[in-house]
Amino acid sequence: MKIGSFTKTDIERAIEPLPRERYAFLPTPFHKLENISKDYGVNIFFKREDMSGPSNFGGNKVRKLEFLMGDARQQGYDTMITVGAFQSNSATAFIQFCNKCNIHPVVFLLDNHNCGEPQKVSDYEGNLRLMKLLGAEMHYVPQGNPNEGLYDEVYRQVDKYKKELEKKGHKVAMLPSGCAADGAMISYTLAFAEIMEQSKGLGIKLDYVYNTQGTGGSLPGLIAGKYLMGADVELRQIMINPFADDYLCGTDETIRRVHCALDSIGIHDYPTDEWIKKQINPEERFFVEYGYPTEQGNKAILELAKREGIFTDTVYSGKGIAGLFEHIKEGLVPQGSNVCFIHSGGTGALFAGEEVIGDLL
Ligand SMILES: *Cc1c(COP(=O)(O)O)cnc(C)c1O
Repeated sequence: MKIGSFTKTDIERAIEPLPRERYAFLPTPFHKLENISKDYGVNIFFKREDMSGPSNFGGNKVRKLEFLMGDARQQGYDTMITVGAFQSNSATAFIQFCNKCNIHPVVFLLDNHNCGEPQKVSDYEGNLRLMKLLGAEMHYVPQGNPNEGLYDEVYRQVDKYKKELEKKGHKVAMLPSGCAADGAMISYTLAFAEIMEQSKGLGIKLDYVYNTQGTGGSLPGLIAGKYLMGADVELRQIMINPFADDYLCGTDETIRRVHCALDSIGIHDYPTDEWIKKQINPEERFFVEYGYPTEQGNKAILELAKREGIFTDTVYSGKGIAGLFEHIKEGLVPQGSNVCFIHSGGTGALFAGEEVIGDLL
């Protein structure tokens, strides 16, 4: 297969030999937002990663987990640990997968507001409630030294606990926050291929693909997909964290991860660093401290719900769509353009408390 002319089928064929747990509902739907498109003068299509399954709270971690859990099963792990924020979508999706794979799920949540372990039912809000309902073993870790990275203390405790479990004879694997492990990078290459095929099916030539970026585990796969398919579409990222955050991703890490995605299907003929850098277009004006709502984000959530009946959340997807709306207003997306917005999910967090959803209602 020649690079630049891969089809979705070629990509699926390349992925076929990889260990994978097929619990996602793929392809996820792709459809036009008729009312919002009229309101903004731009044709907006949603790629519904919020509907990726296996529960009704899917999201963009589900595709990643297909590959990570496939690998974990092959390695014979009986216990898996992940880390995340109190309202982690990633940890929630992780537990769902562990349950389906008969692997014991353990989550370490960063308790940076010192809430401690919830005591009563109503304290389990949003995703925290879903995690409890799914039966995960949950640990709450207050932030350590304020001069350290936010998750340093969490990772120290995870290391310690992992060793204890191993001493007892368990085989334990650990997934990083956001499931942004190297083995997951190929998952969004398939998502990109679906987007291209679905838009083509509607007779649409897309101009932009927008995604909401956190741990940066989706973008590298999208970039690899664009490279393999030779697609003429601009990728843009609405950031919910600073782009070059030390514990998440930056340019070098994104390049490395694009290589990981390609490596996993045996392609070592990489695009140039310069070309990859052109695909990284982070928009950083729409975040505040992680996990907190923004006025623009919340306004966009209500608008989308009212005009289209679609839910987005205050931590991620609401900020993402607010960023796209703002780009349209500013002319960064010209009138009449065809835009795909990847709805990454997060709807479990809509049921969280006021500190997460703000004055949304
Ligand atoms: C994790 C997450 C993101 C960010 O995706 P990354 O792959 O981590 O960049 C966006 N939206 C939601 C709902 C998420 O849970």
